[in-house]
Amino acid sequence: MSSETIREWVANACREALSLVLPVSCAGCGELDYNLCPACQAVLVPELQYRELFDPVAKLRLPLWYSMELTQVSSSVLHEFKEQGRTSVAKHLARPFVSALQAAYAAGSAESSSTSVHITWVVPPSSRANFRQRGYVPITVLAQAAGVRPQRLLVNTRRRVDQSVLGRMERFENMRGSFRTNKNLDGRSVIILDDVLTTGATLQECARALRAEGANVIGAAVLAYTPKNFQDTRRKNA
Ligand SMILES: [Zn+2]
Repeated sequence: MSSETIREWVANACREALSLVLPVSCAGCGELDYNLCPACQAVLVPELQYRELFDPVAKLRLPLWYSMELTQVSSSVLHEFKEQGRTSVAKHLARPFVSALQAAYAAGSAESSSTSVHITWVVPPSSRANFRQRGYVPITVLAQAAGVRPQRLLVNTRRRVDQSVLGRMERFENMRGSFRTNKNLDGRSVIILDDVLTTGATLQECARALRAEGANVIGAAVLAYTPKNFQDTRRKNA
């Protein structure tokens, strides 16, 4: 055995031993010995809601369906899923997400004259740095767990200021013109997918870029909406 092979063998053995010793804790509340405890699973249920985003420049509405409002538990599960590599909770998040997907799909079908409408599911562009860091694109993993195969038709055209430091209108202006697609989408019915909605600036920029290439944007399906008081609480805690 070469020293390289031995080192690799020892590293693997250590990792395996650690996985037996290190306790699993609930992604929602931290309770030991659960990936997601029954109480937290019971919180992740669909409470489908509808609203419309308005693009003040294009004067267009973007229909939007979201599955639930962000709470401490869902926020914690999403954080573990997106930032801590816990892709094992995707199936628990997919369960409520399906309701928003179905509602958006139903709206697409209602618009169509034929019985079966073909929908193209699109996700916002992800930065290369984020992908390198995580090794996966969370919204793609979530969408697949919910049973659809999203396409990455959109790319970033330029760098943006970190949205979290900006106000609502500034976010909108910061985003505007920052996505594009090279595909001709003439007549394609498109639904945009995302995990969390805060101001909607990202979704509106997706819609603008898709419409610019001829897409018929049915609307957006989002897992969780961040209610205003939730943002305020977080800011106070920060
Ligand atoms: Zn829990």
